[in-house]
Parts: sequence; C-alpha cells; structure tokens
Amino acid sequence: MQKRDQIYEGKAKILYTTDSPDHIIQYFKDDATAFNAAKKGTIQDKGVMNNKISSRIFEFLQSQGIETHFEKMLGDREMLVKRVQIVPLEVIIRNKAAGSLCRLLGLKEGLALACPVLEFCFKEDKLNDPMINEYHIRALKFASEQELETMKKYAFKINELMSKFFLKLNLELIDFKLEFGRFKGKIILADEISPDTCRLWEVGTGKKLDKDRFRQDLGNIAEAYQEVLSRVTK
Ligand code: UDP
Repeated sequence: MQKRDQIYEGKAKILYTTDSPDHIIQYFKDDATAFNAAKKGTIQDKGVMNNKISSRIFEFLQSQGIETHFEKMLGDREMLVKRVQIVPLEVIIRNKAAGSLCRLLGLKEGLALACPVLEFCFKEDKLNDPMINEYHIRALKFASEQELETMKKYAFKINELMSKFFLKLNLELIDFKLEFGRFKGKIILADEISPDTCRLWEVGTGKKLDKDRFRQDLGNIAEAYQEVLSRVTK
C-alpha cells in the first residue's frame, strides 16, 4: 500500500492517506506529552514499541470478536488501518483509582473499585478534554443512542479481555482509554492501545510500566515500554 499525503499530525502519531480511500497509515512518533501537552519530551523508540504493542493487542481483540480498525503492521513505526470518522470521545475504563480520578475525588492511588468505572471525555484539547456524561453525548449528538450502547458494551468487554490478557503476563490493567470510529456505518475500535493509553502495574511489585513513568519523572521510561513489549510478544 503506497503512502501518500499527510492528513493529520497529533501528539503521538501522524496519519497518511494511501492508494485506498478506505485505508490510512498511522505512523507512531517518539514524542511524549502529558497533562494536555503542558509536559513534553521524547522517549527513545516509543513509536516502534507502541506500534508493535498496539498491533499485538488489536490482533488479540480481533481474535476475540472485537472489530477494530487494525489491518496490519507495515513497518517498525507504521500500521495500516481502516479510515474511520473518529467519534469525538475518549472512553475510559478504570479498575483501580489512579491519575485524574484520584485528583477528582481525593482517592488514594491504587484503591480498588468495587466495579469497573466507565467515563467519557469530550476530545477537545483547548478545553482540556472535559469529563462529560451520557446526557451531554445525547444532547450534543456526539453519538447516536445505538452507538453509545455499542461503545459501552465494547469498553466493558475489552476491559474483561485485556485484564485477563495482561494478568497472564503478570501485569495488572489499572485503567485505559479507548477511541472509537465509524466505518461504513458501524462503530469499531480505533486509535491505539499502548503504555501511552493504559496504566499497567507489575503484579507483586506494583512497578509502573506505562506513561506514568514520564508523567511522574520516575525514570527508565523506555525500559518500561520495552518490558511491556517483550511480555506481549512472548
Ligand atoms: N488517557 C489517554 N489519553 C488522554 C487521557 C487519558 O490515553 O488524553 C489514559 C491514561 O493513560 C490512563 C487513562 O486514560 O491510562 C485514565 O487517564 P486519567 O484520566 O487518569 O489521566 P491523567 O489525567 O492522569 O493523565
């Protein structure tokens, strides 16, 4: 598939058109941002690692009946995906308290939640991706009722599948963010799933193997991503 024009450059990825109108290429960069880009840096070979981790996870989810935009890996930093219209929402699932939930409710990091928590955020950088609820989504027509139900159902199912998947690798899935897109009238999983978008703690030690190492200046960031890559591709 021939790479053609750049259509978008985001914080962590660049998107290119291809010969096919239904496909685009996602190119993964080493750039890292946190706190809505207030903190910036680069992580050596993060793009390569996230492309590989994300590809592996999409393959796994596809094998379990979740439709995703993933087609195939094209190179170290490139993935061929279906061209979707992104729903302007971040769908977050949490199994333990961390990050913004701790700040919001004054919780201790690592507090176990009695059931998984689903949150929606409106994807709008200039507003800092504010948390919204289902009524906002309906009232502002960010998604149809049916799309909303599909995204919720998928998110909880993906949580079950990925929690088990990572636990076998001795990693605990604390929380993660999903993005969905519309493709030929259907909602499918899009974007990426990587240590940039998931919190993963090593079972037993509680060692953080995700972007919190960058957010919190914990050091050995690339090593942590490499550790996740080795485990998911073992
Ligand atoms: N997350 C993400 N992109 C965002 C915001 C959050 O991938 O723009 C992920 C984040 O890595 C974590 C989960 O979603 O796995 C929950 O993030 P939280 O709201 O706690 O983010 P924080 O405010 O700590 O960055």
